[in-house]
Amino acid sequence: MGFLPQCEGIIVDFECQFKVQLKDSRISTILAAFAMLLPQLLTDFFQKVLIGFGEYVMALKKKPFACKCGNDADFIWKTRHGKKTKIHGFYRWLELQQLQVQCKRCGSKMYILRKLLGMEPKKRIAPEIYRKLGLLGSLTTFRVAEKIGCMFGWAVDKMTIWKAVQQTASEIEFKLDANELPHGEADGTGIGIKGIAKRGKELKVFIQYKKGGGVRVAGLDLGNYNGSWNKLFQNSIEIFKGFSQFLLLTDGDSSILDSLKDKVKIIFQRCLWHIPHQAKFSLWQDKVKHKSEDWLHIIAELMEICAIRPLVDCPQTIEMMVESKRKRLDEIISFCKEKQYSHTVSYLENAQPDMFTAVENRLNGKTTSKVERVMRTVNMRANVSKWSPSGALNVTKVRLAYYYNGFDA
Ligand SMILES: [Zn+2]
Repeated sequence: MGFLPQCEGIIVDFECQFKVQLKDSRISTILAAFAMLLPQLLTDFFQKVLIGFGEYVMALKKKPFACKCGNDADFIWKTRHGKKTKIHGFYRWLELQQLQVQCKRCGSKMYILRKLLGMEPKKRIAPEIYRKLGLLGSLTTFRVAEKIGCMFGWAVDKMTIWKAVQQTASEIEFKLDANELPHGEADGTGIGIKGIAKRGKELKVFIQYKKGGGVRVAGLDLGNYNGSWNKLFQNSIEIFKGFSQFLLLTDGDSSILDSLKDKVKIIFQRCLWHIPHQAKFSLWQDKVKHKSEDWLHIIAELMEICAIRPLVDCPQTIEMMVESKRKRLDEIISFCKEKQYSHTVSYLENAQPDMFTAVENRLNGKTTSKVERVMRTVNMRANVSKWSPSGALNVTKVRLAYYYNGFDA
């Protein structure tokens, strides 16, 4: 329906009279008595306001609703107190009496209560309500949300909040913003899934840098480890094409972007990975013969130095590994100096200071990557439950939309 036309507002007279019996005047007693009144008060207030607006629209020449026959002018009241219907009133579920009118042209009857509320026919929760509940359920656990609500006289159950998260998430779609920077990162993190041991599935996030600093989420997907990364970038393909160039840092499979390779430059985030490949180019510049003894020695050493062993999680072991890698790197640089491979020397000397920072930062709990910060936001909510795949994806969607993309309820 069209909503109500702009009006100056109508005045609703709401008198209420309650008789309550209280045993004493302690604050807890007064609040408990008020909590008893609240459902009735809220229902009466909704009903009174709706009848007030019902009268107002019935007095308009052109109604903000139409009969299926096309008539939008001539109606008569059928009832202002029809059969009850259940609607969510944010604080709790309400039973409201239908407002029904009849078309004077064809005789059809229609309910106007939901039209007045701005709700779709038959729906029980209005979008502005499920978005609020959905945001709540993404910010904390369903159990905590229910508990906090209950303390404030709220009566919203966990299941309603859970459903609201799913519904809110269904309205959210992530993709690149053509007006933000042509620069992004993509990474994955493990999420516990019901029935799957250990880390379960991998949640993949694609973030885009913003002009004013900070990042926004441009893609989100949940799938198997080493599974496809296509869904992460799929929504953004057309927007990628609009940028003259785009810099993407990732260690994931970005093959879906291969067709855009003249525009999208992909750098592997674990910079260690591309060092041996870059060195092949500098060795060529230094005119070292491909697969000669020197060539093989340098590349093999670099491969060893740059090899990442992700399964090592003992800090002291990592420290010792980094120390030994540094020593080997120094030796290979000296070797290149002796042989006067000047391009390779300067390439490796440039790379040297940053080569092990990622590994070392991980040791100190620091992070250089902006996407890792986003992952922490995900994990704070995701790690407190075991999820179904769609439940995990949906709660993360709403949460990230709130923290990074300006979604609010
Ligand atoms: Zn009609």
